[in-house]
Amino acid sequence: MKQIRLFTLLGLCAALALVGCKQQTKPTSMKYRPLGNTGLMVSEISIGCGGFEKLDSAASLELMTLALDSGMNYIDIYDANPKTRSNIGYALQGRRDEMIIQGHIGTIFKDGQHTRTRDVAEAKAGFEDLLTRLHTDHIEVGMIHITDSHAEWDELEGSPFLEYVMQLKKEGKIKHIGVSSHNAEVALRAAKSGWIEVIMFSLNPAFDRMRGGAIPWDEGALDNLQGGIDPVRVELYDYCATHHIGITVMKTFGGGGRLLDAKASPLGFAYTPEQCIAYCLAKPCISTCILGVDNLQELQADLHWLQASDAEKDYASVGKSETASVADGSCTYCNHCSPCSVGIPIAKVNELLDKAEREGMSADLQAQYDALPHHAGECTHCGSCLSRCPFSVDIPSKMDRAKEVFGK
Ligand code: SF4
Ligand code: SF4
Repeated sequence: MKQIRLFTLLGLCAALALVGCKQQTKPTSMKYRPLGNTGLMVSEISIGCGGFEKLDSAASLELMTLALDSGMNYIDIYDANPKTRSNIGYALQGRRDEMIIQGHIGTIFKDGQHTRTRDVAEAKAGFEDLLTRLHTDHIEVGMIHITDSHAEWDELEGSPFLEYVMQLKKEGKIKHIGVSSHNAEVALRAAKSGWIEVIMFSLNPAFDRMRGGAIPWDEGALDNLQGGIDPVRVELYDYCATHHIGITVMKTFGGGGRLLDAKASPLGFAYTPEQCIAYCLAKPCISTCILGVDNLQELQADLHWLQASDAEKDYASVGKSETASVADGSCTYCNHCSPCSVGIPIAKVNELLDKAEREGMSADLQAQYDALPHHAGECTHCGSCLSRCPFSVDIPSKMDRAKEVFGK
């Protein structure tokens, strides 16, 4: 009897812990994060659609079952290939309510290829095909497919295509509007638009070091990485965190796993999947890392994240000497230097200081600084944080500067 009560209590605790996670009923160590302001809680790692094109329906079912049973509750479907969509629809039958779907609008299958379009008739046919093949009457996130240049964003605003997307939301066929982009400047414009709720953005330790709205396949973009995170990207992440716009990450491993191979990586050294995921999830604005997998084995390997130790997730000390080669003493807000001997939240102080120096002081920045539990003025120059910073930041000098700027 005692045992039955204990199990009932444990079951109740588990159920309470899962409140907010869409229909998540399996025991799993997966963690969940808010998807911006949408009210949805999404698994911190999730699945892309790539593998479903390469598998038959039985193997697709196996892949989806493992994803769902492991606690993944988010999928990105950008691919318009009918086979991909049909396989996903087949694999989701009976479990549709367990998966939050981010489906792309403006993708069609034309002349045997996945194609981007802004033609309303084509987009409409492509979207209706998506719903039909998924056996559903709605998706949670309607993702406006790839908007990478300023010209493309200008073309989108006020366009019949956007009216169509808005109409889909009114009709309840999509619950939230998102946009996918590889360009930080365009993603920032989208974030500031007031009507974008989710941004699918390409993010990893290499792309963060590109500059000036470059996209990964711009000529030379990845051959000319700089130290520290691109200031536009810092602003994007900060804006999304403070305005509760969810970022779903694509190309976590650099696109095609490039960052996992020292020879292929533009950084010249290899990260592990766990380090790449940890790097992205360290940013508060990130809702989920969408992982492209080709088969069950790749998904199983990625799911090691759920058991990975802190040491395995430690991206900041990977190849410390190599990391230094892309560092210029700029703070990446990675928090690796903590704990400070007197409790100063060093990463946050640096973030506020950099922002104040980049954009000028404001009452909001001062208020955020004042609210910190300890301030830069308390720094004793003990130096204990210095050896823990992989990016050669002169932390005591930054603290001195923050004291000057913020007054304490
Ligand atoms: S040098 Fe300053 S910031 Fe670094 S641990 Fe010591 S007190 Fe903290
Ligand atoms: S000072 Fe160094 S370790 Fe600390 S948050 Fe900045 S980059 Fe990371």
